[in-house]
Amino acid sequence: MKKLIFVTGGVCSSLGKGVAASSIGALMEARGLSVRMLKIDPYLNVDAGTMSPYQHGEVYVTDDGAETDLDLGNYGRFTNSPLSKANSITTGQVYQAVINKEREGRFLGRTVQVIPHITDEIKSRILSVGKDPEVDITIVEVGGTVGDMESIPFLEAARQLIHEYGRQNAVSVHVTLIPTVSGGELKTKPTQHAVKELQEVGIQPDVLVLRAGEPVDEGMRRKIAGFTNVEFEGVVSAHDVPTTIYEIPLLFHEQGLDAFLLRKMGVESRHADLKAWKEVVRKFREPKARARIGVVGKYMELHDAYKSVWEALYHGAIANEAAVEIVKIDSSRLEGPAAEAGIDELLSGVDGILVPGGFGERGIDGMVRAARWAREKGKPYFGICLGMQIMVIEAARNLLGWADAHSAEFNPDSPHPVVGLLEDQVDVKNYGGTMRLGKSDSVLKEGSLIRAVYGAERVSERHRHRYEFSNAYRAEIEKAGLSISALTPDGGLVEACEWPGHPWALGVQFHPEFKSRPVAAAPIFKSFVAACVANGKK
Ligand code: GLN
Repeated sequence: MKKLIFVTGGVCSSLGKGVAASSIGALMEARGLSVRMLKIDPYLNVDAGTMSPYQHGEVYVTDDGAETDLDLGNYGRFTNSPLSKANSITTGQVYQAVINKEREGRFLGRTVQVIPHITDEIKSRILSVGKDPEVDITIVEVGGTVGDMESIPFLEAARQLIHEYGRQNAVSVHVTLIPTVSGGELKTKPTQHAVKELQEVGIQPDVLVLRAGEPVDEGMRRKIAGFTNVEFEGVVSAHDVPTTIYEIPLLFHEQGLDAFLLRKMGVESRHADLKAWKEVVRKFREPKARARIGVVGKYMELHDAYKSVWEALYHGAIANEAAVEIVKIDSSRLEGPAAEAGIDELLSGVDGILVPGGFGERGIDGMVRAARWAREKGKPYFGICLGMQIMVIEAARNLLGWADAHSAEFNPDSPHPVVGLLEDQVDVKNYGGTMRLGKSDSVLKEGSLIRAVYGAERVSERHRHRYEFSNAYRAEIEKAGLSISALTPDGGLVEACEWPGHPWALGVQFHPEFKSRPVAAAPIFKSFVAACVANGKK
């Protein structure tokens, strides 16, 4: 029998349900089990593609081009669960599917209702994620907080599945908060209420994951177990760890959470092999080198907007046994005459520059200035998506002297649109899901940095962009000093650029951060961090 684990949250949002669900997934895999991860987002958007990073953090992209919640990034970093459109469900998707069926007449004249039609649609989507024969466990994270109106149909679907499967096959993990009040005392009351709220929708939790600033001691865990009908072994302290979130699987394991869950579900497994996770934490704890990396981008105030980029930098650091200090630089601060004069000071002390992806005009000139600085000062430069397009604009402006060169995204009237739309894209009016999305291959030129970094001739990475290096300008820009080091297999689109003779410079049209893992850093991040460490030693 396949098993289901539902992960819900109580008290408030942002408790790290995604990391908790992912850590449980990692532990199950460490025991040799095959896991599938699924995120439910109760909002009405069909997907996260049209949502501002300010509202919802990064849009995470899967191989098949789904634009999803950033929690899928956690699943990808912690587990081997394949991730695709099917691994992310929103209210919008569910209603769209049910309404489409209704319009097609497939309900045969019946009244279409939340229960059973919406809940049946949710249940069938949950079950289909784990349908492959090799899958042992599907972990379903229900976004939002129990008690929110939006999540009621999803919780009802979970309740029905637990009832139908039996509690030995479908378990509930509830993540709650143990706040600290003045005087440093930890408080259990919000957790008691949060559990009641879950029980009110008919779900008895099997596990409580207690988020707290410091360890929740045994006495308090016993008290909570007593109040909530949860077995003591199922009450786990998820206190802040001084190292990295990649220690959470170890923290759960030390408290026996994986063993407890497997016992509850009657699953036999081997002992947990956590060597790889222990190595990650050790390398994080004992760095042998360091580097300061300036990330010059748009959405700097909101940490989650570049979530996968930060994580991939940490993976690169771990792979080099180095500590990386990230300096977040809002690119608009690099604009204007004063910034031009003071650029050395504004960027002083950084060993390398990373320009990540982004949309919209604000701050572009500041990114171009940062790229120029890196090129002229011989600093490592790494451009991701927009960051590669910045290299193209910078080369056109400063190497070819076309001061008006721009991307058509930011100045549609530029006489030198060195980044532009393909002809067949010009009429696109619908903004949801109309970009170049998902995985595709790049062919890497012999003798290039990118080829050395990957050690392969062909790689597959994920894309999320609308604009391209304009083919009309390829030859001139290349002659001026920006080499093109990767193309799509048909040669039609530019996938990477480099500055020949520079210590380390690489812009890629794709997003390598999405496939980076703590146990296996994305090759470009590993190489970039190594270049920054080397620069720091100089
Ligand atoms: N805005 C640019 C484009 O659409 C870059 C996108 C990105 O960086 N993800 O092509």
